[in-house]
Amino acid sequence: MYQDIILDHYRKPHNRAGELEGTDAKVHHSNPLCGDEMDLRIRVVDDHLDAVVFDGDGCSISQASASAMTQAVTGRELDDVLDLSENFRMMMHGDDPERLDDLEDGIAFQGVAKFPVRVKCALLGWMAVKDAIETYRGGDAAHAVTHE
Ligand code: ZN
Repeated sequence: MYQDIILDHYRKPHNRAGELEGTDAKVHHSNPLCGDEMDLRIRVVDDHLDAVVFDGDGCSISQASASAMTQAVTGRELDDVLDLSENFRMMMHGDDPERLDDLEDGIAFQGVAKFPVRVKCALLGWMAVKDAIETYRGGDAAHAVTHE
């Protein structure tokens, strides 16, 4: 059951941490509609997402979705992560993405698309990792941190 997957990620989130050794980029995303706040850190090795962690406060959907996201994207090439993030975004807007299976537990949030007010909650982590990669690539140096 998808509900169980979401609850499981909420109760035992994966890659939830306030620090990451060798952080290459850190971003803060929030969802004022719901009150979700999230810090996300990434470490990049050879153009692959070596590690991603998130921390913050938010509703069960935002926390569980971020946890599922970290599992689905860790170890992938950065371009691949951006593509997956776009596939998740499409799914949350009711479209049929090509790479549904690659979203792994992210698929569990498909039903959330029916609740527009919660869509931003589910998207929070996925948009944060996209932003972190763009930050890492120099999109916004102000947010970038080097080996904190
Ligand atoms: Zn929320």
